[in-house]
Amino acid sequence: MASDEFDIIRRYFNVGALAFPIPELVLGIGDDCALLRPAPGMQLAMSMDILQEGVHFLPDSDPYRLGKRSLLVNLSDLAAMGAKPLCFTLGLCLPGVDEQWLEAFSKGLAQVAQEHHCPLVGGDMSSASPRHGSKTLCIQVQGELPVGLGLLRSGANLGDLVYVTGSLGDAAAGLRVLQDAVKVSPVHRAALLEAFYEPESRVAAGRALREFASSCIDLSDGLASDLRHVLQASGVGACIELDSLPLSSAFREAIGAQEQKRLAISGGDDYELCFTVAAEKEAAMRAAMTALGVPVTRIGVITNQDGIEWRDQDVPLTMVVSGFRHFEATPLLAEASS
Ligand code: ADP
Ligand code: MG
Repeated sequence: MASDEFDIIRRYFNVGALAFPIPELVLGIGDDCALLRPAPGMQLAMSMDILQEGVHFLPDSDPYRLGKRSLLVNLSDLAAMGAKPLCFTLGLCLPGVDEQWLEAFSKGLAQVAQEHHCPLVGGDMSSASPRHGSKTLCIQVQGELPVGLGLLRSGANLGDLVYVTGSLGDAAAGLRVLQDAVKVSPVHRAALLEAFYEPESRVAAGRALREFASSCIDLSDGLASDLRHVLQASGVGACIELDSLPLSSAFREAIGAQEQKRLAISGGDDYELCFTVAAEKEAAMRAAMTALGVPVTRIGVITNQDGIEWRDQDVPLTMVVSGFRHFEATPLLAEASS
């Protein structure tokens, strides 16, 4: 039985499956800081994501899948920058010592850490305030990429084509499955839950896109919201063809035809990449993505008008849609806002 924070770290986190060596790591868990030595000519990329019980995940979430998801959503930011993952740190705020939970959560983390050669190098741990006895998980990832070669949000140009990887809306549909709000066949149910818990890693795609894309972002809050960040940073607009949005068969079964397009652009948690590419680089980009086995779909074009024009063949659309925004949206659990 783990008795205190140091015991927990020793048993579940400072273990070979998670805290393994990589060449860039001079010193890992155990001192006041981890020490990293990036290769010459490389710059560090850093990003952090908080996952709060009741806001980002349901209280009874499978801890193994939650461990995988926590690291995957962080790696998604590195992917969107075109960076290679190096290592990560972990902050945990827990209401108590639940060894079964810790065991499964750390195994899920380790699975993704090993797949991406991205070890745990440090962190912090605290007991949660008894007044708010929920879990908070925080991960910071470090990655590297050649100096000057980051895939920024600000590079989209007039006439560039807008692309997304994978399919849209599956994670939002998966959340509805978890909340028992929709009914689907067992195979599609499994596919949607997987989309929510284990978003596809687009790290390899992001690194390859450094050569082709003019801008890139990962879709965490929904296309409608995230694409706007790119447009604002780049000082351009976009025209998006709603009929070309990539929708999976599981998504089509779960979500009524009326609602599909709206959910595909406003639902969060897809962690697919949305990027822009100049027309003359389109063929080479497609070939590179095919070689990686990453499906990509052209959904529109960059314009010089403000904001997003949503085009729909069926309905002339003046859709007012936005993605998820903290402090504005209804949280997963109503009591999470109190
Ligand atoms: P400090 O008091 O200097 O912040 P701690 O006593 O909190 O250090 O942590 C001791 C060591 O354990 C540090 O190297 C820290 O990075 C590591 N550590 C703490 N919490 C975690 C965790 N959740 N996962 C991995 N390493 C951790
Ligand atoms: Mg500390």
